[in-house]
Amino acid sequence: MSAVEDMGSPSEVAPAVICWKCREPCQGVVCPGCGALQPPPPQADLFAVLGLERRYHLDRKAIDSAWRAASRQTHPDRFAGAPAVERRMALQWTATLNQARRALRDPVSRAWYLATGTPRPPERGGPTLPPDFLEDIFDLRMMLVEDPDAVADRVRQLKADLDGQLDARFTAWEQAEASLDEVPALLSRLKYVDNLLQEL
Ligand SMILES: [Zn+2]
Repeated sequence: MSAVEDMGSPSEVAPAVICWKCREPCQGVVCPGCGALQPPPPQADLFAVLGLERRYHLDRKAIDSAWRAASRQTHPDRFAGAPAVERRMALQWTATLNQARRALRDPVSRAWYLATGTPRPPERGGPTLPPDFLEDIFDLRMMLVEDPDAVADRVRQLKADLDGQLDARFTAWEQAEASLDEVPALLSRLKYVDNLLQEL
């Protein structure tokens, strides 16, 4: 079993650090020595904070139940009587866990995150799309007034095709048989197609 597959809960994924309170080496959300809550790791992997495997094929229920389990461990109510520093950490955990849940629940942002390390497309300098694809989109948009039904059919077909390609890439990647290099370009195309779908 690899380190990634081994991740069961947040307490198992955090690398060993020194407990801020008792100064003993400590691994996990709560120090096993003194019981103090530890801060969320900076730049934590969003899958790791929820104790999830890094996968594209995850269902919402699995993400929600991982989020619930992790939230239970660090919920601010549990630390209501704790020193201010721990109450603050509990709030930081809440923000970290909510951010992870939000980013991973949506398949498109989950795909962006796996492929690029951020849950959304880059502000600028995204993947360059082939001119013939952009031309197709342009033509479809031009046809929209004359023949909306034909455009709708074609756009749905394009979307199904892109969804299929994404799915295949991630399936191969999850079996360690492919890289995700082409995923950002697929996601960018999908965004064009989704925008067009919204205009129908
Ligand atoms: Zn401690």
